[in-house]
Amino acid sequence: MPLVARYGTMRENSWLEEHRGGNVLDMVVENCLFCKIAAGVIPSKIVYQDQDVVAFEDINPQAPQHVLFIPRRHIASMANMTIEDGPVLAAIFMTAAKVARDLGIGESGYRFVANVGPDSGQSVFHLHFHLLGGRPMGWPPFPKK
Ligand code: AMP
Ligand code: ZN
Repeated sequence: MPLVARYGTMRENSWLEEHRGGNVLDMVVENCLFCKIAAGVIPSKIVYQDQDVVAFEDINPQAPQHVLFIPRRHIASMANMTIEDGPVLAAIFMTAAKVARDLGIGESGYRFVANVGPDSGQSVFHLHFHLLGGRPMGWPPFPKK
């Protein structure tokens, strides 16, 4: 899969320009931040995008490399997935592994996580996975109480 856009924003997002004739904007769920990022309505630092998957830098990075991966089509959360979402999920994981290699953390390693629900701290309800790398992560992620 080629990297079709790197650091694109709404104005300079050539991928969206080329696909504007499609139904990209129709896929925006009202008041969903990540739908708007996927549609280029809200600018972001796009690392990768294609018809199904969008990856962009987290605005509040928790590691030297922190990229979010989302399905372009709105899925609220891992808890809302159906078997039909299987192909896009596979595409997200394969894309993340490639982006990790491109970012130079394929060998050093990384974490790939989804937050689900209140205890996890999920704050955006459009399915997304965090790719974190460039420093040791530690395990478990939080100390036991
Ligand atoms: P979560 O807490 O798992 O729902 O993750 C949501 C993530 O979205 C957080 O890590 C935020 O820093 C990130 N985030 C929020 N707004 C933006 C934005 N406009 N652009 C990029 N990342 C964002
Ligand atoms: Zn959405």
